[in-house]
Amino acid sequence: MSGDVADRATAGFRQRYDAEPAVRWAAPGRVNLIGEHTDYNDGFVLPFALPLRTVVAAAPGPDGRWTVWSELDDEPVEFGAAEADEPGRVDGWAAYVAGVVWALRAAGLDVPGARLAIASDVPVGSGLSSSAAIESAVLAALVDLGGLDLPTDRWPRLAQRAENDYVGAPTGIMDQSAVVRGREGHALFLDCRSEEVEQIPFDLDAAGLAVLVVDSRAPHRHADGEYAARRRSCERAAATLGVAALRDVPVADLDAALARLDDEETRRRVRHVVTENQRVLDTVALLRADRARDIGPLLTASHASMRDDFEITVPEVDTAVEAALAAGAHGARMTGGGFGGCVLALVDAADADAVADAVTAAYAERGFAAPGTLTVLPAAGVTRG
Ligand code: ADP
Ligand code: MG
Repeated sequence: MSGDVADRATAGFRQRYDAEPAVRWAAPGRVNLIGEHTDYNDGFVLPFALPLRTVVAAAPGPDGRWTVWSELDDEPVEFGAAEADEPGRVDGWAAYVAGVVWALRAAGLDVPGARLAIASDVPVGSGLSSSAAIESAVLAALVDLGGLDLPTDRWPRLAQRAENDYVGAPTGIMDQSAVVRGREGHALFLDCRSEEVEQIPFDLDAAGLAVLVVDSRAPHRHADGEYAARRRSCERAAATLGVAALRDVPVADLDAALARLDDEETRRRVRHVVTENQRVLDTVALLRADRARDIGPLLTASHASMRDDFEITVPEVDTAVEAALAAGAHGARMTGGGFGGCVLALVDAADADAVADAVTAAYAERGFAAPGTLTVLPAAGVTRG
């Protein structure tokens, strides 16, 4: 896709509807710095918003009707209140838009009819949360068009409901929180139990650092079934240990907890979650102390834990991590649910291209399809765009 993403949204709007958009909103993708498979264990995550954005250009439309066009599809999709009010009636990509209309209406808000045009630089389906980006940008545009009384702290929950209850994808609150609340130069420390959030300074630019994101391009192998199995295993272990969630096992009690579990696989799963929660806390402590460079070993330890204990990595992501470390990254790990998706590496900004080249070369050597690479700094959340 060429040209600035905001210009593409406006141009798409003009071409589709032969009119000028009234509002334009942008929402970023996100990446999780550390804290994997901790969310459904009531634990901690630390995502940040990316400079890649999804932009929605919109104007009022006929009452109770919505028309949406995305540059990813030639055909616009149109739906009315009846379809929006029944989860599942609108399917395909437009379900993410209808789901937002549904969630706002279910919250008792008077959502204005609208025409929308969507352009995006967030890769779709790579684990950088193009889904939360489209939901949040659409939500912001509709709130703005309708002058709806909806403070931004409620946006993540409503966007999540669109995805959970209308689209039917059972995801946690991390993606929408990061996308809505992200702040330039910060990561978002989220307690998945209390849903409390805190902005943690993560000013890579000032430290001469950057994050290299590598899209592994690995085909997702059995990801849904494996995810469900990991989740079940954690829930069963928590029940055996007599705690509400594995979040309640502090790392100091890990050995005692492991001794109470009789199967080796479950012990490894628990060890990942308990140590991963601690790594998030340790990362936050280092960032608060302005020691971003020193979080590298925690990232790499997180990867080893996902590879050996949680067993959710694949050869492509292991290769990317190893190659990045060998080329001088301070730390590297898979990010996202696993079985493909993205890897992130903390690098000196001056080395970012060399590390990316080293990963690409390692892929070629192993005969893998070329990875996508992108150097990022923590960016702002939803903005008028
Ligand atoms: P991820 O969030 O990791 O990118 P998901 O599977 O959660 O992957 O969400 C991807 C889906 O979101 C796409 O298949 C599509 O249905 C929808 N989507 C995301 N961005 C757009 C867009 N710009 N235009 C149309 N649909 C989009
Ligand atoms: Mg998603």
